[in-house]
Amino acid sequence: REPVLEIRNLNVDYGLGDDAVHAVREVHLTLHRGEVLGLAGESGSGKSTLAYGATRLLPPPGVIAGGQVVYHPRDGEPFDVLALTPRQLRAFRWAETSIVFQGAMNSLNPVHKISAQLTDVIRAHTPGMSRPAQVARARELLGLVGIAADRLEAYPHQLSGGMRQRVMIAMALALEPQVVIMDEPTTALDVVMQRQILRQIVQLRERLGFSVLFITHDLSLLVEFSDRIAIMYGGRIVEEAPAAALYRDSLHPYSHGLLNSFPALRGAKRELSGIPGSPPDLRAMPRGCSFHPRCPKAFEPCGTHVPPLGPPPAADGAGNRTVACWLHPTTAPVG
Ligand code: ATP
Ligand code: MG
Repeated sequence: REPVLEIRNLNVDYGLGDDAVHAVREVHLTLHRGEVLGLAGESGSGKSTLAYGATRLLPPPGVIAGGQVVYHPRDGEPFDVLALTPRQLRAFRWAETSIVFQGAMNSLNPVHKISAQLTDVIRAHTPGMSRPAQVARARELLGLVGIAADRLEAYPHQLSGGMRQRVMIAMALALEPQVVIMDEPTTALDVVMQRQILRQIVQLRERLGFSVLFITHDLSLLVEFSDRIAIMYGGRIVEEAPAAALYRDSLHPYSHGLLNSFPALRGAKRELSGIPGSPPDLRAMPRGCSFHPRCPKAFEPCGTHVPPLGPPPAADGAGNRTVACWLHPTTAPVG
């Protein structure tokens, strides 16, 4: 499998110096061509920060404190997104990697028709295209996400939440990027709608061949629709595995707790009862593994040493997966 986006040792802080909050720490994550990679973790674990850091969309006081984000274009040499000039970055966004923000359905401009908002994106990157060709492309994009062409002339408030969400997805696909990042694009929608939209994204991915980084709290959606799943805790990736393997046999006690807290997966809903306690305070991170104060299986090294992320020992089901846990100490840390 070829990589398309490789996040290497990424660190993101909010603020500077002693006051800095380390929201993303030493993250290694690779998105491969054509795959749907799911990213899950409790609120505050750093999922959005990771996505915004990797696409250089961090709002202040966010700063990249180190790392690389290597993008592999369709043709040409791979390059580090973090080293692009502002001008190169403008060409990169939408055309190579697009992002659908958390709550994006509310970010359409209320005073402009859907057609104008779609053609704006198209025109900004293909200035030579004629007006009729832009409109035809906008119509085609709406068709892709299952919206009738007559909705082009609608204003955002005339569309349902699900439709507005689909318009945002159409926009993200407008320039045929290789990578689409979706940050909880569906949490504001009802469960049936979430499923429909995700199914549609997976079908489009098969037709158009892009890769998806899909961020959500809802692990049951990821188990159903993604190829691989990465689990984040306290700013770090603590486990990454094929979706089926993670579901069948999660290695990290945190992943296990997350899986057990979803009703659609295993028995009755129990909040995060699989995991008593609350997420770590990033300003006062526990020493060692940041999950150890909540971990039912914590033992001697956990309170003092951060477990490195890497393939588990063969006996624990190595191959094609990584974990950061002293129960499954790796001999080959990533990076
Ligand atoms: P959610 O599931 O709620 O979207 P998340 O996993 O996306 O959560 P982030 O939004 O990336 O988490 O936040 C990670 C951490 O960074 C949180 O502890 C948050 O409080 C902190 N953080 C986010 N934005 C800022 C900011 N502008 N200034 C300071 N800290 C911030
Ligand atoms: Mg978020």
